[in-house]
Amino acid sequence: MAKVRTRFAPSPTGYMHVGNLRTALYTYLIAKHAGGDFILRIEDTDQERFVEGALNVIYDTLKATGLKHDEGPDIGGPVGPYVQSQRTDIYLKYAKELIEKGEAYYCFCTKERLDSLRNNSDTYKYDKHCLHLSKEEIEKNLSSGIPYVIRQNNPEVGVTSFNDEIYGNISVDNSELDDMILIKSDGYPTYNFANVIDDHLMGITHVVRGSEYLSSAPKYNRLYEAFGWEIPIYVHCPPIMKDEHNKLSKRNGDASFEDLIEKGYLKEAVLNYIALLGWNPRSEQEIFNLEELVKEFDYRNINKSPAIFDNVKLKWMNGEYIKKLSLEEFNSLALPYYKKVISKDLDFLKISSLLQTRVEVLSEIPDFLDFFEELPEYTEDIYVHKRMKSNLESSLTVLEKILPKFKELSPWTFENIEKCCMDLISEMGVKNGVVLWPVRIGLSGKKSTPGGAFEIADIIGKEESIKRTEIGIEKLKNAQ
Ligand code: GLU
Repeated sequence: MAKVRTRFAPSPTGYMHVGNLRTALYTYLIAKHAGGDFILRIEDTDQERFVEGALNVIYDTLKATGLKHDEGPDIGGPVGPYVQSQRTDIYLKYAKELIEKGEAYYCFCTKERLDSLRNNSDTYKYDKHCLHLSKEEIEKNLSSGIPYVIRQNNPEVGVTSFNDEIYGNISVDNSELDDMILIKSDGYPTYNFANVIDDHLMGITHVVRGSEYLSSAPKYNRLYEAFGWEIPIYVHCPPIMKDEHNKLSKRNGDASFEDLIEKGYLKEAVLNYIALLGWNPRSEQEIFNLEELVKEFDYRNINKSPAIFDNVKLKWMNGEYIKKLSLEEFNSLALPYYKKVISKDLDFLKISSLLQTRVEVLSEIPDFLDFFEELPEYTEDIYVHKRMKSNLESSLTVLEKILPKFKELSPWTFENIEKCCMDLISEMGVKNGVVLWPVRIGLSGKKSTPGGAFEIADIIGKEESIKRTEIGIEKLKNAQ
């Protein structure tokens, strides 16, 4: 069998849609699972959609996710150039070859004529008007510089079939095939033409792309057949939906890969999650690194049915990846988020050890932490906790008793703070909660915090702990 060669063929749109990244991943996995080559080709023949900096988004994303290509515009290779806008001569040459064979023809129809055809029919199909031009008329039009396109000449009777690895055998009546444009009036090829030429010339064995291209595949097969070229293996991937009815799309405001990273998802987690959007590993395993995916990925287990992008699951998976980081790794990823809400010079590593198991997405961090910087406004009712057996009166007693102990405490270490609180618990002969609940509320002003009283006191320091406890006492006195 020939060496497997796949290509990722993005258009430079300026962002990496999650569906595109999944295509890139599956394309990479199919190649690498079989020990083959993964090629990057830039499909930039839609010059109207040119976006500055868009190439970098593609390179950066592939680099960040570890989907390393073996050939591409930046590294070269034996079948370049790998950028379609640099291959226009090639497409024109092959289009002319099809004209010679009677499989394509020049079309000089004006926009007005095409618009009126479109307006007069619900199911627009080009009416082959220019197929019937004489050789002389064509020559005359060409030499007088009348703008033209080149169209595929599809038969009007019969059936065209093709096979897709995921969707099976599909047959279409030729009467439904439009004579699609191969070369546009600006001289650039359409995607529909360029993809066939390039996939053949680049020796692509498996064409992997979104299912939106399924309906055009019969026309691609007709092109392969017209040239007498071998048809590649088609692997069309199911759509990714945001819910039952709507496709996930950047245009609908859904997150791109960059947006997800910006929101605090880890690239490894995103890659792992999207691997499962449409592929079934046939086991209970859900956490896969790239190496494991390469080993396990069998494209025959891609599903036909649409995949739903489940934010809750992505969050969960991200949390699992966060837990697996070393404390130092987590700390350095979390630091920019700490800096958003904390300007004081605190021991961030200690905060990280409290947060690492609680955070699912890095952007949640500021909400967990606001109280470290400044005691938030709170009302005394949060001192009351039935199960902790804490009420307003007991809370006041506890804070009044702990305050002088805090003032005396030296050095201010976690162990000493712990001992000081535990001593008070024995002195008072009460359950832990009676002391620990109000002390923590006094220090944080919040019912729920990462870490308990000792950790918080340790991190915010002696002076701040005393100040906050005094505020708590005032509040509780006023409330008695
Ligand atoms: N340039 C196409 C796109 O970005 C790629 C389609 C394909 O993979 O063949 O959607």
